[in-house]
Amino acid sequence: MRPGADSISNLSISDYHIHTPLCKHAEGDPKEFVSAAKSLGVPEICFTDHCPFPDGYDRPHRMEPDQFSLYREMTSDLCEVSGPHVLFGIEADYYEGCEAHLREWLPRQGFDLVLGSVHFIGNWGFDDPDQKGRWRSVDLKTAWREYFALLARLAMSSLFDVVAHLDLPKKFGHRLTDKEMIEMASPVLDLIAASGMGIELNTGGLRKPVNEIYPSALILGLAKERDIPICFGSDAHAPNEVGFGFADALVLARSAGYTESLLMRQRKRSFKPLPFISDNPPSHHRH
Ligand SMILES: [Zn+2]
Ligand SMILES: [Zn+2]
Repeated sequence: MRPGADSISNLSISDYHIHTPLCKHAEGDPKEFVSAAKSLGVPEICFTDHCPFPDGYDRPHRMEPDQFSLYREMTSDLCEVSGPHVLFGIEADYYEGCEAHLREWLPRQGFDLVLGSVHFIGNWGFDDPDQKGRWRSVDLKTAWREYFALLARLAMSSLFDVVAHLDLPKKFGHRLTDKEMIEMASPVLDLIAASGMGIELNTGGLRKPVNEIYPSALILGLAKERDIPICFGSDAHAPNEVGFGFADALVLARSAGYTESLLMRQRKRSFKPLPFISDNPPSHHRH
């Protein structure tokens, strides 16, 4: 399949992972993201910018706490006739010490979707290109084990709706063997299943050195065995990345046996059928 936004026209898959310039590393007015979705026929988009934290956690990559009202303003009232439905969400990090704040703060914001992600092992931003060098001095298996330990705590926290980019440490190509991955990921997937959370097929990985969707086909197969629901996210940091690689993501989802995806409203989930793998899905297919 051809990766890229141009191949997804008429694929009615919602994009549940979108950033805004408030995260200091994205570009484009929220209106431009909406227009991009509209021209591609993407039925819904959800803004999920990085959550601000009052303790100053990872300040360079997120809005300041006093910018949150601006974030809400920028991303509201964007629904237009025949355009995509626009949801209000957040990508909230899990890290040691985040829980008390998030438990109090998240439920009060009226989010449609809260993505949970892990970007740090201790003080190491392991997916930050500026901190990539540290991969050379760490033990690969230890790093992955520590990552999954954090993901396990994320799953047990009951703070989030969907786990974002589940195998993010592979971003620069640092992979486990299949056997190691099954051994490490399975217990975490058990916890995710027990928590009732979903996972996302994040096509951002197709734009990174690993050149692969998060999570891998191997992990997605393990998720399907546990009936963990899925949604799709481009992790767009620019309007032209909306819906990026969704044709590939659909193939991946269908190959793993998935037939439906999550539909989120005010953090309540329902399901909608996946499109068929075709550039021109049957006309009876609607959303
Ligand atoms: Zn992320
Ligand atoms: Zn993101």
